[in-house]
Amino acid sequence: MTKKNYFQISTAIDYPTNFPHAGHLYEKICTDVIARWKRLQGFKVHFSTGLDEFGSKVAKCAKAKGMEPQKFVDYMSQFFLKLCKLYNISYDDFIRTTEKRHEKIVNEIFMKNYDNGDIYKGEYEGLYCVDCETFYLEKDLDNGYCPIHKKPAEVVREESYFFKMSKYQERLIKYIKENPSFIRPEKKRNEMLNRLKEPLRDLSVSRTSVDWGIRLPIDKKHTNYIWQTALINYLTTVDYPNKKFKDFWPCLHIVGSDIIWHHSIIWGSFLMSAGIELPEIFVHGFVNIKGQKMSKSSGVVVDPLKLTDKYPADAIRYFLIREITFGHDGDFSEEALKERLNNELANDLGNLVSRSLTMVEKYFDGKIPKGKNELKFDIEKIKKLMENYELTNALSEIWKFVQEINRYINKEKPWENEKRRETVLYSVLDSIKIVSILLSSFIPETCEKISKQLGFEIKSLKDCKTNLLKEGKIKRGEILFKKVE
Ligand SMILES: [Zn+2]
Repeated sequence: MTKKNYFQISTAIDYPTNFPHAGHLYEKICTDVIARWKRLQGFKVHFSTGLDEFGSKVAKCAKAKGMEPQKFVDYMSQFFLKLCKLYNISYDDFIRTTEKRHEKIVNEIFMKNYDNGDIYKGEYEGLYCVDCETFYLEKDLDNGYCPIHKKPAEVVREESYFFKMSKYQERLIKYIKENPSFIRPEKKRNEMLNRLKEPLRDLSVSRTSVDWGIRLPIDKKHTNYIWQTALINYLTTVDYPNKKFKDFWPCLHIVGSDIIWHHSIIWGSFLMSAGIELPEIFVHGFVNIKGQKMSKSSGVVVDPLKLTDKYPADAIRYFLIREITFGHDGDFSEEALKERLNNELANDLGNLVSRSLTMVEKYFDGKIPKGKNELKFDIEKIKKLMENYELTNALSEIWKFVQEINRYINKEKPWENEKRRETVLYSVLDSIKIVSILLSSFIPETCEKISKQLGFEIKSLKDCKTNLLKEGKIKRGEILFKKVE
């Protein structure tokens, strides 16, 4: 996709009925890594994240707390903003669906669908899970219970406006087949194609029973279906239909596998109806704990707002990307986090930087020695992995460089070998520089510290070439990672 020099990327917007969990964090970190990488490549990036604040479930939660819905979401939003801040999520826009700018665009898209003849009035009766904000077919429920929330689905009947999704079935199938990058990984794409073998049903896109929502422009008794309201955030965030939208769209959506259907099939048909180009979707896996899906009901939860009390944000970022292969489910455990923090971040990287700089102080009076870098790096391989969003593999390739530098310094022993000292230390420092540019999308705070100590700026992937490190004084700082027992 990546048309021109612009790149739009989004996380899904979170439902603020509960505090943020590790799944929210994981999605934001993965998206942040890609956004930072693209910026490093020279793209102008628009990265959005935010909150999905309407719907009956939010209204119920607010009521239970004795709050007005707007007050409630205002209150909850601070925790999600704090999450982004704690983990250095470099979003360009934190969008909330209750903002005025959003209402305008929701109405505009709805009217496009309406004017295109795709909206009609009918009556809906169905089995509805309030927690999912989704109607289910009998066969998709577990004995009448929502497969995700394990709660009985309610029979809901009401006047409703419908969107003619059935009209887009063939076009969607054709589009998915012709555009392999529309839904990735491929396994998920095939899942959607399989589901499209069943006839698509028209979609109820309004409610009279839900008060907390955006009123339909054609009938104020109705509020807009929460999913339509939510999905349109990706247009609002780039100021649809103005210049920013024209520059940036289409977006890359990073979403969990439970909402691919909404992002590909439902969103795809709304956009086709409105005459807007379709986005790309990359599906990531779930963060499990000991193989169990994290959820409040199972009691298995990690609080990402507290985790940074014990571990540096960069260690958690590093761990999640390294441990959970992007596109697959993976496991979170503090044991594994500690191990990676101690062995890889503290030993491989932290020690390397610290002992190299100590030697520069000791032998060269704190000045970067002259020399020619003897080490070689295959940056192209990493670029290619990142191009395919193989974040985990890219990170593990970069880590091989880190280990390579360690092997080199251990073999060359610049503390003993005086003749080779200048060349070896220059090679090591110049290599640390390259590695820290490559790692800066993954562990930005740490790489910023390294760059300050070595006296260079992290700006562009183009600087990932050997022998660019200039002479100058180093500024040895604190150690990068303390070990955690
Ligand atoms: Zn449910």
